[in-house]
Amino acid sequence: MTVKTRFAPSPTGFLHIGGARTALFSWLYARRHGGRFVLRVEDTDRERSTEEAVNAILEGMAWLGLDYDEGPFYQTESFDRYREVLDKLLEEGHAYRCYCSRERLDALREEQQARKEKPRYDGRCRNLTEPPQGAGDPVIRFRSPQEGQTLIDDRVRGRVSFDNAELDDLIIARADGSPTYNFTVVVDDMDMGITHVIRGDDHLNNAPRQANILKALGVTPPVYAHIPMILDENGKKLSKRTGAASVMDYRDQGFLPEAVVNYLVRLGWSHGDQEIFSLDEMVSLFDIDEINASASSLNPSKLLWLNQHYLKTSDPAHVARHLAWHLGTLGVDPDDGPALEALVDAQAERSKTLVEMARNSLFFYCEPEGYDEKAARKNFKGEASTVLARVREALAGLDDWDASAIHGVVEGVAEELELKMGKVAQPIRVAVSGGPVSPPIDQTLALLGKATTLRRLDAAVSHIEKSGEFISDAP
Ligand code: GLU
Repeated sequence: MTVKTRFAPSPTGFLHIGGARTALFSWLYARRHGGRFVLRVEDTDRERSTEEAVNAILEGMAWLGLDYDEGPFYQTESFDRYREVLDKLLEEGHAYRCYCSRERLDALREEQQARKEKPRYDGRCRNLTEPPQGAGDPVIRFRSPQEGQTLIDDRVRGRVSFDNAELDDLIIARADGSPTYNFTVVVDDMDMGITHVIRGDDHLNNAPRQANILKALGVTPPVYAHIPMILDENGKKLSKRTGAASVMDYRDQGFLPEAVVNYLVRLGWSHGDQEIFSLDEMVSLFDIDEINASASSLNPSKLLWLNQHYLKTSDPAHVARHLAWHLGTLGVDPDDGPALEALVDAQAERSKTLVEMARNSLFFYCEPEGYDEKAARKNFKGEASTVLARVREALAGLDDWDASAIHGVVEGVAEELELKMGKVAQPIRVAVSGGPVSPPIDQTLALLGKATTLRRLDAAVSHIEKSGEFISDAP
């Protein structure tokens, strides 16, 4: 049997963290078993579905690297097929037309609630042979088994038993003929040959209904795996602020997709106490049986830790592509500066996110807007202009502009002036970057290039001299 899984989002919002994890688990399971992964857009709720949400879902999947073998399919394109299956169920007696009015159903529910019973349809139209006089357009109900139990052998929850008496004759098509959610899912899972349904456990109660419809259609239901919800870092339900945010927000905040994927896989799945998984490792190790049956909680500091790990260990060319995007968002043309891979090499150690890396790299692209006040006060004291002027002179004579030659020059000046290396390097750093933090000074200058370095040293020298004049002019 070829494994076939699907991700079936309703396009009513962005791809948020819970949806992304469902997609990832389904994708991993298919990849692990050499199977196929389907993307199905469940857009039959026309009022709530938007094209913007469809695009956001596709964008989120692409960014995470979750490729699909089939689809995207859109349920709104399958109405003829749903109609065909409805007719078959009606013909075979597995479904029936129900003419009960809204008023009758409301009154029925109120009576049942007054008797403290669970509201359910009482089956009045189950055995009608013809429409009652003056009846309006009927809905179509599925003839659910009324006795016994429906068992779902859920791969995460174990065996879950549902009393059939509690499962209504659910509506599978509305009075306007449109099919309902539980029905379209069933038809698609059947037609697409889905073998494993991995989804959020908010759908667990739908599983017996869907399994019963599939059985009526003569099809063996898929294996179900309902995964527990994700809680926020305080163990509370996710709110918009804490986690229902779009996956693309993680990109905007400077996370690498592999860090987010690694973070997602650990929300509810574990393999021993391993935390870091490459994609290949995930594919070879992932199994539904290791999904935790209890809810998992967000852990933002773990995501940062993972991101830093991937910034440091991924192929710099890969990180560079993502950094280029972030530099672009800051209004910088990444071609107007140092080689990006070398920049990533220099910055990876000291960046938790790509946003941080991009911001801390701005001085490679634009002249610093003035000097950090505290750093200037500390490093631009009177004699610093002599030091910087001497460094400038020595560097001007350097033909091979690379880190080790630069290092030799700076060290030579420090020795000559009998200063510690830091006393020379830090004023240079403030002069060229505007602040007190940058990669090692030799690497920084190598990346900046000779002309820019000399220009910024000149500017710092004249800045120090001017502020010195200002100070001596003061009464
Ligand atoms: N469209 C449903 C949702 O977004 C998922 C249905 C399913 O996975 O069976 O919640």
